[in-house]
Amino acid sequence: MALLQFTEPGQSIDPHLRKRGAGIDLGTTNSLIATVRAGQAQTLPNEEGEHLLPSVVRYLEDGTREVGQKALAAAEFDAANTILSVKRLLGRGLDDVQKLGEQLPYDFATSEGGMPLIKTVAGSLSPVEISAVILQNLAKRAEESLAGALDGVVITVPAYFDDAQRQATKDAATIANLNVLRLISEPTAAALAYGLETGAEGIIAVYDLGGGTFDISLLKLKKGVFQVLSTGGDSALGGDDFDQEIARWIIKESGYDKQITRDQLRALMLKGRAIKETLSHSDSVKISIHLDQLNFESELTREQFDALISPLIQKSIKACRRAIRDAEIDLEEINNVVLVGGSTRIPLVQSSVEEYFGKKPLADIDPDKVVAIGAAIQANALVGNKSDEEMLLLDVLPLSLGLETIGGLAEKVIQRNTTIPVSRAQEFTTYKDGQTALLIHVVQGERELVSDCRSLARFELRGIPPMVAGAAKIGVLFQVDADGLLSVSATEMSTGAKAMIEVKPSYGLGEIEITDMLKASFEYAKEDMDARSIAEARLDAVSVLDAVQGALRLDGDALLTNDEREIVTQAIDKLQVCLDDEASAPLKITEVSKVLMAASDDFAARRMDASVRQALAGLSVDEISVVD
Ligand code: ADP
Ligand code: MG
Repeated sequence: MALLQFTEPGQSIDPHLRKRGAGIDLGTTNSLIATVRAGQAQTLPNEEGEHLLPSVVRYLEDGTREVGQKALAAAEFDAANTILSVKRLLGRGLDDVQKLGEQLPYDFATSEGGMPLIKTVAGSLSPVEISAVILQNLAKRAEESLAGALDGVVITVPAYFDDAQRQATKDAATIANLNVLRLISEPTAAALAYGLETGAEGIIAVYDLGGGTFDISLLKLKKGVFQVLSTGGDSALGGDDFDQEIARWIIKESGYDKQITRDQLRALMLKGRAIKETLSHSDSVKISIHLDQLNFESELTREQFDALISPLIQKSIKACRRAIRDAEIDLEEINNVVLVGGSTRIPLVQSSVEEYFGKKPLADIDPDKVVAIGAAIQANALVGNKSDEEMLLLDVLPLSLGLETIGGLAEKVIQRNTTIPVSRAQEFTTYKDGQTALLIHVVQGERELVSDCRSLARFELRGIPPMVAGAAKIGVLFQVDADGLLSVSATEMSTGAKAMIEVKPSYGLGEIEITDMLKASFEYAKEDMDARSIAEARLDAVSVLDAVQGALRLDGDALLTNDEREIVTQAIDKLQVCLDDEASAPLKITEVSKVLMAASDDFAARRMDASVRQALAGLSVDEISVVD
């Protein structure tokens, strides 16, 4: 039915056949999407020209929702329905969230799996669903800009994200209907953005201070391959904390003695953010605040601000020291230091980093965009636009994986910082006579006691033949894929009894939940879907049009009569008119392209015959292999 296209080997791919890949930096505070065009990776702006999408979603009473800047603006007066920093909750249990020690202005419910759900006017929502809304919004930006659906995306995650957090990120992408090519770590993406993979071999430190998290990673470049030597940081240290310091300072200085409401706190934090950002380029800033009865007029100098945040910055430097120790390297061995994250614009951060590492850090690429740019470069390679130069990226497991053994001890099967993908087998045995089942408890973490580690999954291996204690040999195989996601299988070796278990992290989503959410997101985001189907219909139509036009040019004279040619040309013109009209509905576009396909069916068949004849010309019968 469709026209065959003939491309000489080695000939370049038609631009419209280029695959659409994008890199997404799903940040705590801000998210971005970038793609490679004409060999250049660049972040994509929204209609207002803004590249950074605040990672904020607001749910409204009328069933609609707002994303980004608009949602952020509502945070002051609608704190409960406006979700900020949702990445901090991703893949976490309610216990973990409470341990974060934040004054989160939300009401929580718990799902069956122990996932915290945020109560809003739109019902109880999981962090995964909320993250999906952000991803969808970014994807739409890319699809409009590239005039077509994305073939695949690379999403970045902090290097220390555990299995549950990575799985949750992937789940969010599934709900957003995105094809995830790979999750890569943020520091690796930053190093790619600087093209450090082409430079001299050596060690690179990536210092990433964003809005909610601090991340230090030491990468080793060897033969063009990045290996992550170690990762460290603090999942609860970032620009938000600086905002909070300023908010606290204001409350203290104002002498306000009543209970601070959550809306007041939210408003003060936002004021704090503006003050902080101004202090990156001014020596002092005037403050004027009137929130109910909290009235405050004063000034904050950079010096005072530095004093407020200095302990926090020192905390980040301490984490750097730890990561260097973990990597078993000397400070002097580090060749490059890369700054990532909006908070590295703060002069005290820059000078502290320079002082500690003893060299000027790289900061030429916008620290807000550098991760998305690196991810786009990787997406472009993985989607197949650059197959000959495909980059091989090695990452490491951020935390050790192991099993619970007798006495509540964690036995490590794969040590942290092991390069992934990796698989490791370990043998276990029964400890009771006649034991026929074994409970396997998979944990992640560095501590000795299971209770101090993170519980990832539990499963049972049944059907072990009754034997004396210690006679059964149970091989447990841990496999971690390139995204850092784990699956575990267990086999009783003497009989071959096997249990294959896909580890679903405790706070991940079940298949059914994902399906439900997918459905919901389809119903919810009808406009998104419409936009997508318009883009797809247009794309398909353009490729039909190009193919027929190309075929006409090459073989029209030889294979068509004038009348036949006229019919095809008319169908082409109709489709062209339909495509030129921006208001054309996707169904209409599809219909008109079908007319063109039907009109050129015979032509396609003749071309195929001709090409087969040509290919066979000169071959003897026994050279033509017959497949039955
Ligand atoms: P994330 O990776 O957490 O999404 P970003 O890298 O986008 O975060 O950084 C966001 C943080 O950077 C916010 O706390 C924001 O206030 C801060 N920030 C942005 N610009 C500046 C600036 N000029 N000075 C100080 N902080 C800044
Ligand atoms: Mg970031």
